[in-house]
Amino acid sequence: MNLGKTLRLVSTAMLLCATAAIAQDDIPAQTLFINVHVFDGVNEQRIENANVLVEGNLIKEVSSDAIDAGDATVIDGGGRTLMPGLIDGHTHFALTMPGGLGAAEQMHWQYIGAMATYAAREHLHNGFTTAREIGGGVVGPGLKKAVDEGWVDGPRIYPSGAYVTQTSGHGDLVTYGQFDQSENNLHRLGFFINADGPDAVTAAVRKNLSLGASQIKLMVSGGVSSEKDPLHSSQYTNEEIQAAVKAAAAWDTYIAVHVYDDANISRALENGVMSMEHGHFITDRTAKLMIKEGAFLVPNIAPTSTEALKHPVYGKKGTPQNTKILQFHEGAKNLKEVLQNNPKLKVVFDSDFVFQVGSDLRRSLDHEKWMLADFVGNLRALQAMTSTAGELMALSGKQNPYPSKLGVIEEGAYADILIVDGNPLEDITVIGASPQWFDAPDREMDIPTINLIMKDGKIYKNTLK
Ligand SMILES: [Zn+2]
Repeated sequence: MNLGKTLRLVSTAMLLCATAAIAQDDIPAQTLFINVHVFDGVNEQRIENANVLVEGNLIKEVSSDAIDAGDATVIDGGGRTLMPGLIDGHTHFALTMPGGLGAAEQMHWQYIGAMATYAAREHLHNGFTTAREIGGGVVGPGLKKAVDEGWVDGPRIYPSGAYVTQTSGHGDLVTYGQFDQSENNLHRLGFFINADGPDAVTAAVRKNLSLGASQIKLMVSGGVSSEKDPLHSSQYTNEEIQAAVKAAAAWDTYIAVHVYDDANISRALENGVMSMEHGHFITDRTAKLMIKEGAFLVPNIAPTSTEALKHPVYGKKGTPQNTKILQFHEGAKNLKEVLQNNPKLKVVFDSDFVFQVGSDLRRSLDHEKWMLADFVGNLRALQAMTSTAGELMALSGKQNPYPSKLGVIEEGAYADILIVDGNPLEDITVIGASPQWFDAPDREMDIPTINLIMKDGKIYKNTLK
């Protein structure tokens, strides 16, 4: 039998199975939330005393009028707030492990994969129903598959695959004792690709896309956590950035860049980059250019405070990271003012915590939620975790693995829903935000004021029963 005929037979059989499944179960399961005030991810005014009907994995109706329950499972929100599940625009699940880069050098892929699975579960139970994995390993697409298939609890994952970095750039994780990337464990495991020159960059982007990346992460300036590249270093030429943007656009998706300094943010923008990761040294002028282009800023705020000096690695005087974080604090000192002066700048929540587990990880997430709200106000911070982040996820175009709307409560959007005890627009702590960072007490994985977590129409936590 020829291959074409075999494929036709297979697809006919699949069609028959699908038809049979629909005939058996023509209405997907429904859940009706009643007695809730809805924060829709966009508007400051909640929809008071509303009802929300979920059918299958989508939101079917949002109304302040009564909705006929029919056969739906009814959940009484008791006057609490119903809001979109949170979106974290910048995570590295495959780097959620204790011990830093030195320890990662000794780690087996099985341990790294298992810890990434643990991290995905943490994020979901902290209210995040979507996470953009912004580089660090081929574990991203694999973990995503296991979550999508329902074997592992975790958020929706937008994987970036391996960091694309110039030799000795921020993503080149070769350590002091090593001369070349082939000696490095994380390189061997596909965490980063050293690519120099437009052709090599194009190939690296294509490689990631073929392995399941929905967008690509490129490094265009020095970093704080890396050892070898100084914070002031400019990375990748205009030609290399353009090559990356073109290779991503050929698959209908985009490039996100690691960048701190203003000159490299505006250079990346000029060369077609739409997502600036960190970008703490941004000036008013560049913020306005980004607004004009509709580009996104994804800044993690917590490290800009002097609290960061309590960190066991960054706070240790004399280390390269300590020198770098002091330079970083100096560079980031205008960030709050620039964000506040430019309310139309699209800001997306970014946790970016690596090498932290258990209560340390939770403390960091809680404090980042607090700091973002402190910088931009509760409404914009909540939008940054919901609707604005959803817009950024949609930039993946035809590579978007989840094409319905994310980060909003409206008809046709994915049924990613939280019910929280209180009004987060007035009190950001109801989603777990904490003014304390390293001094915050230990806590369990669950946040008690998040009563219900639904992702893709499935309930993962419900304390309202
Ligand atoms: Zn990062």
